[in-house]
Amino acid sequence: MRVATAYGISLRGKQEIRRRSIALVAAAAGSTAAVMLLFYAFGRIGAEVLPQGRKAAVTEGASAKIGGERQKEEIKEEIRKEASGREISAAETKRWEMADAQSLRLHGTAAFLMPQIELKTMYLTFDDGPSGENTDKILDVLRERGIRATFFVIGEYVEKFPDTARRIVEEGHTIGIHCYVHDYATLYASPQAYIADFEKAHKTIYEVTGVEATLFRFPGGSVTNHSRGVCGDIVSELESRGFVYFDWNASLEDTVGSKTPEELIACALESVKDRERVVLLAHDRLKTTAECMEELLDALSSYRMEPLNAGIKPVQFRRFWENG
Ligand SMILES: [Zn+2]
Repeated sequence: MRVATAYGISLRGKQEIRRRSIALVAAAAGSTAAVMLLFYAFGRIGAEVLPQGRKAAVTEGASAKIGGERQKEEIKEEIRKEASGREISAAETKRWEMADAQSLRLHGTAAFLMPQIELKTMYLTFDDGPSGENTDKILDVLRERGIRATFFVIGEYVEKFPDTARRIVEEGHTIGIHCYVHDYATLYASPQAYIADFEKAHKTIYEVTGVEATLFRFPGGSVTNHSRGVCGDIVSELESRGFVYFDWNASLEDTVGSKTPEELIACALESVKDRERVVLLAHDRLKTTAECMEELLDALSSYRMEPLNAGIKPVQFRRFWENG
């Protein structure tokens, strides 16, 4: 069993051989079963205590990906630490399988072990930062609640607020590329102009935070009047280099007009529409956005919040350019 091998667990006897075909996490497991299965994965309890019909589920592929990239003992210890007292669902196992080595390095195993049972998933995303005060205020709220999000940053502000940029990374959030200078006319003048700005932003983020960002978000989104005509070429080029872009499917509309915190929350809830999978757009440079964060997260408490990573199927606007 490669899972066992990857975790350094030795298995003996016929029963164990039979268990090789059983995966790690319960497909339809209740919380108790999931916890038990987790212990099972670590070889702490035997198969005889597994509830009937509740199968475990970590595939060989998943463990091979993880095991192939990192030290066995290190991973084993990390998973134990992160999973201690938590529940694991089949859906999480699936994400684990899909996680690429880069995401694991960026986000650690924890990103793939967060409780998921019966919760909808939301990816909070913040564009246009970092700013000084407002980004820090948002980071405070997220830290207090143990929530990790994604920040698509602007290179010139990363240089201006390097401590905040580093704090984003240190506190486990995903840092992605927005641009170096947020100027539509320059960015979308040509694919070459966009790529040149993108490379500068990528380099800046790396130099300041040490992270090789793999995710990006188009300023204004992938389909706008600004980007139409050049977006297709930009996507082809950057995807061929392994970058993934994310648009959004819900928004605070915090850059449209000047809204009160209450109005921002109303916009968010209206656009979220109680969907199962939400990428929510907000802007961490804005004071009102920072001010509404506590209340917003209270209103979205039915969602499990996660940072984006390269293993997640992206939310992308329709590629109009592909249809001419
Ligand atoms: Zn922007």
